[in-house]
Amino acid sequence: MDLKNYINGRWIEQDLEKVAVINPATGEELAKVPLSTKNEVEEAVRSAKQAQKEWALIPAPKRAEYLYEIGYKLKEKKEYLAQILTKEMGKVIEEARGEVQEGIDMAFYMAGEGRRLFGETTPSELPNKFAMSVRSPVGVVGIITPWNFPIAIATWKSFPAIVAGNTVVWKPSTETPLMAYELGKIFEEVGLPEGVVNIVFGSGSTVGTALIEHPDVKVISFTGSNETGRKVAELGGRHLKKVSLEMGGKNAIIVMDDADLNLAVEGILWSAFGTTGQRCTACSRVIVHKNMKNELEERLVAALSNLTIGNGLDPDVKVGPVINRAALEKIYHYVKIGKNEGARLLTGGEIITTPPYNQGFFFEPTIFTDVKPDMTIAQEEIFGPVLSIIEVNSLDEAIEVNNSVKFGLSSSIYSQDVNRIFKAQRDLDTGIVYVNAGTIGAEIHLPFGGTKGTGNGHRDSGQAALDVFTEWKSIYVDYSGKLQRAQIDTDK
Ligand code: NAD
Repeated sequence: MDLKNYINGRWIEQDLEKVAVINPATGEELAKVPLSTKNEVEEAVRSAKQAQKEWALIPAPKRAEYLYEIGYKLKEKKEYLAQILTKEMGKVIEEARGEVQEGIDMAFYMAGEGRRLFGETTPSELPNKFAMSVRSPVGVVGIITPWNFPIAIATWKSFPAIVAGNTVVWKPSTETPLMAYELGKIFEEVGLPEGVVNIVFGSGSTVGTALIEHPDVKVISFTGSNETGRKVAELGGRHLKKVSLEMGGKNAIIVMDDADLNLAVEGILWSAFGTTGQRCTACSRVIVHKNMKNELEERLVAALSNLTIGNGLDPDVKVGPVINRAALEKIYHYVKIGKNEGARLLTGGEIITTPPYNQGFFFEPTIFTDVKPDMTIAQEEIFGPVLSIIEVNSLDEAIEVNNSVKFGLSSSIYSQDVNRIFKAQRDLDTGIVYVNAGTIGAEIHLPFGGTKGTGNGHRDSGQAALDVFTEWKSIYVDYSGKLQRAQIDTDK
């Protein structure tokens, strides 16, 4: 199948260079995706701009009705979409279903916003004067998304954007365009007006750059790596764009000496090796109290040997492939660095080369121990199934180690002591903190994002997402029939 851009409500046949979309579990070609140019971005932005005025004039509860329809369609197609998602991205089928569910949740949550989109009313300091603030749409929104959550992240961004009265040009990752195609088909099926969401496939350097530079695109909402996010922010800054960045993580689970170890082992396995470690919130560090270290290591290694690796379509498989060959090589490179810097490999560490794994991109779930907090593998985002165990002597030290990385997305503490838990939730410098649960499991109605190198102060999800896609407008209505000067006539 040759994919096409979705512009102004139509799938457009264009004579563009194309690249193959590969199933990372089997190496099979699933489709071809076009590499669009600046011209297609221009066309898409024109269509979004044209549609926006009319779209913004539709009452928000009416705009929201499209989101309810989209939510029902996603629900109806959940299994179908999950199967494609697993083939395209590699995550195991149960997780793929969970990802589609996230889109369904977001559709219904943001549809509800159509009847809220609250502003404020407040008393005026002057008599016979009314004061209020309302949210206004920003206009055309540019959305740039990664491959690891190809449908969920698109819904986190496009649904709040459209319910607030904006129109969208979306550039998905070329690794996972099928999910974008399927979501585009749903927009078409529910009759979303032409131009409200446009999809332009292509590379970040061409399509992403053209979107950021386009004078009619007012906001860029980006999710991806820290390295790319920096480029997006720099270019966006030059054009005075509002840029929302959701970037990488180096997330840790703290296991204290009073932790329920069974619970901690389960949480660590799920957080470190779920999605084959390719989540921004994946746990890649375990910070363990010295009294628990040996037993935790033994249990983790034993439990890991029971995790089945393979094609995520098989319901027994718990760990799927990584996204592509470059990812395999990057992970292997970090494993070599870990060994060279003196970390001790407990298990794993190799690319799996035996058939049928060699058809796809499989890496052994890997655990290093005796890792020091400043080692490269404890500092940089590897984005694969590699976990580092770091020993500490106290809660204070654990918090310090957690906070010693340049990222600040997610953290977790296993302890039974309420005092320790409350101290940790206050002092862990991350946008998300879990207590007696792993580092993954965010729900869509709370803000999602992080501190330091993970973000630039914005959030996806929840009410916070609306702040990215709206401008505040403060309105004063003076019905006194005379000139009343704020701050001056208040003394009269
Ligand atoms: P990436 O940075 O390589 O690409 C992300 C998107 O940016 C893609 O669509 C890509 O084509 C585009 N892009 C690349 N260069 C660009 C440029 N110069 N200008 C504009 N756009 C450009 O990231 P990835 O490999 O697709 O995804 C993995 C990364 O995403 C990891 O670092 C992960 O932690 C992060 N992530 C973060 C969150 C979060 O919410 N914080 C969620 C999921 C993934």
